[in-house]
Amino acid sequence: MSFFKPGIAGTTLAAAGGVYWALLTHLAILFIIIYPLAAPASSDTYACANPLISIEADEPVGYQLICNSADDALAFFDRLDVTLTQYLVIEVAQNLPDGMSKTAVGCYDKEAQKAFVLTFPEFEKRQVWVNRRDSYFLYLSLVTHEVAHAVANCNFTEPDPTYHAEEYVAYVAMFATMPPALRAHLLERTSETGLDRDFGFNEITYALDPMRFGVEAYRHYLRPEHGDDFILQVLSGNALINSAFDLP
Ligand SMILES: [Zn+2]
Repeated sequence: MSFFKPGIAGTTLAAAGGVYWALLTHLAILFIIIYPLAAPASSDTYACANPLISIEADEPVGYQLICNSADDALAFFDRLDVTLTQYLVIEVAQNLPDGMSKTAVGCYDKEAQKAFVLTFPEFEKRQVWVNRRDSYFLYLSLVTHEVAHAVANCNFTEPDPTYHAEEYVAYVAMFATMPPALRAHLLERTSETGLDRDFGFNEITYALDPMRFGVEAYRHYLRPEHGDDFILQVLSGNALINSAFDLP
């Protein structure tokens, strides 16, 4: 069994030639936004304000923004008295650990207590879920997603929760904390399939379309009868405990 939990994996959309110059403009803006916030290249390890979290990177990255995105995950769970209790290293690299899917852009290694995310340029090469303007915000949400895995891992009652239980919690934290405009865009472009009503969250529906799984998990979370109580049920091993292969 692999201990690596794939992050969000998406589909590739061909950029239309007609918007090429518009995309270049957005890319230029992103560089202006990102690189003034990057720490010097000599930094291998960056300590976030939270003493439990540090970042390792081989090249300059937006350290402070990554720390902030990690804090978003912690804040989501803090409301529920669910906290990170172990040290966590976020490694930002051009490649994910061996064995990861080519479409994966992040993962969490339970044993090493380490979250891995691609550098932003590599993230952009792998897929385009949104327009370029929102791409860096989605990238930061990926950080939140992987840190949410780490927090959840500290708090699952079950020593070996189901794959979809882990992903449900991580995706809800990710969607709940991302910029509202980006969230609205992702929800709008993902048609409702009834997954959230039919309780169709399992390892197969996740594998078929991780992003759709994530959107539907968030829709499910938003329903008044679910919400934070359902998150706590998942963490305590009282929900999302069945494999698709267990069902009749
Ligand atoms: Zn994940």
